[in-house]
Amino acid sequence: MDDDPLLGEIYALNLEADGMITRVVSEPEHVLEILADFETDLVLMDLYMPQCSGPELARVLRQIPGYLGLPIVYVSSETDSKRQFKALEVGADGFLTKPIAPARLVTEVRLCAERMRTLRSLMIRDSLTGLFNHNTLLQLLRVTLANCQRSGQRLCLAMRDLDHFKAVNDTHGHPTGDQVLMALGRTLRLRLRESDIVGRYGGEEFAVIMTGLDADQAKAVMDSVRENFAAVTFIANDTEFNCTFSGGLAAFPEYKDPSTLIEAADAPLYRAKRAGRNRILIAQTNRQP
Ligand code: GH3
Ligand code: MG
Ligand code: MG
Repeated sequence: MDDDPLLGEIYALNLEADGMITRVVSEPEHVLEILADFETDLVLMDLYMPQCSGPELARVLRQIPGYLGLPIVYVSSETDSKRQFKALEVGADGFLTKPIAPARLVTEVRLCAERMRTLRSLMIRDSLTGLFNHNTLLQLLRVTLANCQRSGQRLCLAMRDLDHFKAVNDTHGHPTGDQVLMALGRTLRLRLRESDIVGRYGGEEFAVIMTGLDADQAKAVMDSVRENFAAVTFIANDTEFNCTFSGGLAAFPEYKDPSTLIEAADAPLYRAKRAGRNRILIAQTNRQP
């Protein structure tokens, strides 16, 4: 994507000489069209364009769930590192400075696209709930956390686990248990923002990644989902029943890497279970150096 069509064509020639397949766009309003019917591994984008800036366009793309993991690399003559950093804040993955040597362009694009292909090759969604599966969730946690480390944005990880779910299966049967899992998946997708990443972490355990919120704000969101879900009445063989879940929450920058975050969110989840379930608790901070 470059408002200078000739420059776009030159990049395309370099990449195609290395065996890649490209599409060149010089008007931002055509980007979505192209993406819709072209299996894109990576977007190379000019930073300054007359109609709209690269970051503006990147922000639009990032709001579409299917393009959440689409790598975006800026190519620009901008050498001011502060301005480069600002441009990366909206979730782009790299910055190449013009003029760029063909060999360097090809290498950077190849590396970034390979990472993307690994991501795609994993089965992305859980078949029962339609949510991201365990592996995708971990990948997205890594990517999102790296973006937040770069931009200084906050990130919250919420783990939740259905309460006494074994009893639901035992009393009402496994298919009814599946209905409950699907209902929770639906509730989560409906109640959370498009930008929140929702996944099924394990059997009856779900995780949500939220950016731009601190732990207290995320807890308020989770509590409202919890109350909503607790109010849902399920019916199995003419018996009505309700179901609740408990949750634990930990935030970046208090916890810095994916595994620490997961551990930190698991601990309050188990505290919530011991404290009587149907509640969300926050990780006790200041335990990490
Ligand atoms: P707690 O409140 O302590 O979490 O109790 P629990 O009964 O929910 O926890 P436990 O870990 O003992 O049981 C989890 C149950 O979740 C057992 C397992 O059969 C059920 N489960 C896991 N995956 C699925 C699934 O895909 N479908 C159904 N129906 N049940 C599942
Ligand atoms: Mg469990
Ligand atoms: Mg459970």
